[in-house]
Amino acid sequence: MPKSPSPESDNPYAVPGLSEPTPYPPREPVGHQLSGHLPCARCRYELQGLSIASNCPECGLPISATILAVVDPYAKELQPIPHPRWTFAGLMVWATGALVTTGLMWLAHLGAMAYSLFRIQATPSWLASVIVASTLLSGIGVLALVRPHAKIRRRQQLAAAIAACGFLPFAWLHWELFADSAQSLGFEFFSSQPDEARVVTRLLCGLLGVLITLGLRPNARVLVSRSLVLRTGKVDRQTLYALAAAFGVGVIGDAIQLASLHLRPVSMDVMRSVGMALAVLSSLLCTLGVVGLFVDTWRLRHAVLSEPLDLGQLIATPLMGGSHEPRRA
Ligand SMILES: [Zn+2]
Repeated sequence: MPKSPSPESDNPYAVPGLSEPTPYPPREPVGHQLSGHLPCARCRYELQGLSIASNCPECGLPISATILAVVDPYAKELQPIPHPRWTFAGLMVWATGALVTTGLMWLAHLGAMAYSLFRIQATPSWLASVIVASTLLSGIGVLALVRPHAKIRRRQQLAAAIAACGFLPFAWLHWELFADSAQSLGFEFFSSQPDEARVVTRLLCGLLGVLITLGLRPNARVLVSRSLVLRTGKVDRQTLYALAAAFGVGVIGDAIQLASLHLRPVSMDVMRSVGMALAVLSSLLCTLGVVGLFVDTWRLRHAVLSEPLDLGQLIATPLMGGSHEPRRA
């Protein structure tokens, strides 16, 4: 790069016609060198040691572009997570438990269908126990969301704690639904005469699902907001609202089915069909929601495991000092 003719022209904050204030040492490329580890945003070439005003020697992308892409302007405002690995492990246990529970429920339904159609005993007797165990495990993982770091509003902590406690009745309701599933479950969605007790249990299960999901959402959003990509809207996800809505559809479906049991036989068939359709729709949406939850939790790994990158950690200048704490691994 050719040297600029006027001494102040390459400083964006410089006042035209005035020379630099004296306390700073004369402008040297050293002061604007990348002191921290920084791979190029396009080609991953290691840029450490280069001047921030130059371009990537491999692909020519301006280094300032890479800095804009990775530096978080809110790095100092975000609270540090004291136990990032435990927090992330808890989140993954939560999401994985939910995913396993959902998968096993489909297995139970398919097994019950196989039984009612072909009299094949396909569902293992331990299935209900494993469903309950994975539900409880998911609830244990959720404890990581109660207070992932300091300065979280008490109301939000309480909501997450109540949601975590909600996993106990949740597991019990799952037991009620699946304990004697093999024969009696039938393929309940298509049974002509829904068992009132089962519909009530399922309705409670759905209600609890809505409450748990909504209770966990505020703190989940706090963690999501740590992700530069998710916060800046490059990826817009409302996974937990979607999941709560999916549970809600099931609650409405079950309520309609329940109402149909106590109404005149004429309207009963229509209502029961509508309720059943909503229940099936809810199962599909919940499954999609839980898969989305798992994917999003995995995407949060960088935001939770490493601290947000502050410009001062990247560039050692006399102004910024570069004296911040090292990034957590
Ligand atoms: Zn490059």
